Amino acid sequence: MSVFRPIAQVAICAALLASSAAGAQDKVLNLYSARHYQTDEALYSGFTKATGIKINRVDADDAGILARLKSEGSASPADVILLVDAARLWRAEVDGLFQPVHSKLLETRIPANLRSKETSEGSQWFGFSTRARLVVYSKATVNSADVDTYEELGEPKNKGKLCTRSGSHPYNLSLFGAMLEHLGPPKTEAWLQGMVDNMARTPKGGDTDQIKAVASGECGIALTNSYYLARMMRSDKPEDRKVIERIGVVMPNQASSGTHMNVAGGAVARYAKNKAEAVKFLEYLAGNEAQAYFAGGNNEWPAVASTKRANPALDALGSFKAEKVPVATIGVNQVKVQQMLDRVGYK
Ligand code: FE
Repeated sequence: MSVFRPIAQVAICAALLASSAAGAQDKVLNLYSARHYQTDEALYSGFTKATGIKINRVDADDAGILARLKSEGSASPADVILLVDAARLWRAEVDGLFQPVHSKLLETRIPANLRSKETSEGSQWFGFSTRARLVVYSKATVNSADVDTYEELGEPKNKGKLCTRSGSHPYNLSLFGAMLEHLGPPKTEAWLQGMVDNMARTPKGGDTDQIKAVASGECGIALTNSYYLARMMRSDKPEDRKVIERIGVVMPNQASSGTHMNVAGGAVARYAKNKAEAVKFLEYLAGNEAQAYFAGGNNEWPAVASTKRANPALDALGSFKAEKVPVATIGVNQVKVQQMLDRVGYK
């Protein structure tokens, strides 16, 4: 659930706490978060319990957070920024919204391919979890062999079957940006056109809505992030059990580029007033407790590979070939992809 607290309230709250910050108990952290997962409450309360640092949180989507940071400028109360898309993390870094962290712990725990390189400006971000963008299909009407590549989603054989959320959503823009790298511009645009031609309905809703629409028979094929699917796979609700019984799952492009992966991560805000607390929070996210939560709570793959996890859904998805396209490439490609979406009418 998203609680969008007015920024004025956060600013006032932070100021009050700062003015009375004699005791350690009064330490505070202002967090701008695009993580929209109810189970994340455990992350925040775990941090406060471990450190005594209270969290003031502003929830919005990635685009909303970036716009807000830009308009607030140096007056921004944000200390830590959490985003759920690699290209948006890259964009924020390029736009100078982050600052250097210089944490040995973070650089040791988080693998190099899941964090930014330190630039000359010193801006840094760190990925704390990963997710796959995969295909679900109706076992009643679709053969897995017809949907085991992203490319096939745009082929005529799948006409009238495809459902996705908006093409302009960051999860899709990042997948399409990666495909642009594999296919080149003409083939990518033809692929996007093919997907528009194959739509069972105008793009709407979130990934979970697409999964349900496949189970109900409205759609034959859908794209979803792995954690939405895993959440349903672990659900005891009878209606979710029914959905899972009716759908098949494919990790696309195993024989070629690999399944598209995305990263959720965070950074210290450029104008953070509580920098020590901000670094502590990022370090907490890289620790055993939080890393285990990313798997157990929100069904993501932890960035720290040694994390002990007990998640039957992630186990069921198994090991697979993951795509490797540099985050900066995907970020740059997103702009070109959005123009293609406009041309082919992918809503
Ligand atoms: Fe999501």
